[in-house]
Amino acid sequence: MGGINPMEKEIEYLNKIIEKKPVYKDILTFYQKILKEQRKIKIEEKDISYELDSEEIIKEKLRKGFPLLDRKKIKINFKPAEELAERLIFLFKAKIEIPISELLKKIFFAEDVSNLGNEEKERYLILISKLSLQPLTKAITEKFKKYLDQRGDYLKLWLNGYCPICGSKPNIAEIKGDYGEKYLHCSFCGYEWLHKRLVCPYCGNTDHQTLGYFYTENEEQYRIDVCEKCKHYIKTVDSRKLSEPVNLEIEDWCTIHLDFIATSKGYQKEKSTLLTLWYHNGDTVIPLL
Ligand SMILES: [Zn+2]
Ligand SMILES: [Zn+2]
Repeated sequence: MGGINPMEKEIEYLNKIIEKKPVYKDILTFYQKILKEQRKIKIEEKDISYELDSEEIIKEKLRKGFPLLDRKKIKINFKPAEELAERLIFLFKAKIEIPISELLKKIFFAEDVSNLGNEEKERYLILISKLSLQPLTKAITEKFKKYLDQRGDYLKLWLNGYCPICGSKPNIAEIKGDYGEKYLHCSFCGYEWLHKRLVCPYCGNTDHQTLGYFYTENEEQYRIDVCEKCKHYIKTVDSRKLSEPVNLEIEDWCTIHLDFIATSKGYQKEKSTLLTLWYHNGDTVIPLL
């Protein structure tokens, strides 16, 4: 063996960003702590029990726009997520009134969580829960990914702006490959799927007059794709302009300034997650950490 492990690489990448953009120091140092806790969690085969549908049903679901994961059919050991949540609650110094095991299940099974207190607190706890569930959701998605990777053409049936595995909306996108194809990254399970470039993933708008994008100064690798029809935006990384492969989970944290720019121009993210970590006080944005 030898060399550095993937987590060390991630930490190093974040250090480079901090060096380039000192304004990111607090948030990315905090994120490094989260990452270290997340990467400690090992999901074992026995933690997830799920029987894939038959080939026919899978194709039918993709054709009709139904996500493949049926949450009612899955058996999960939530212990690893609970352990992680305990550590993240400590890191976030969060106060939580309901048992964390209950909250994690509610978020995983997409149940109503509107009774968690005020809206800000609700978003905060949802973010912690999602981060705690990530190792599990990634492991689930890996099962589907393996299956779909062997059947490359199946995903051609999927033309939707929500995740073919879990049905969640994307939080960030990547343009890559010789033909500049656009991939959307699922905000919940991390799956990435091919999507048409000139279609809004949120409302399906295809009218190029009302679809656009803008760049920020000195950052031609990033852009913000916007839709004037539904007023949503998605951050997009053009990895053709970068020398290293891109990890979109991490890029989401390194591009929070784009979220600020987009939301200040009146565009909205489907569900703001990382923006939850700040609050606006007049013109100043203050980290809640
Ligand atoms: Zn997903
Ligand atoms: Zn739209």
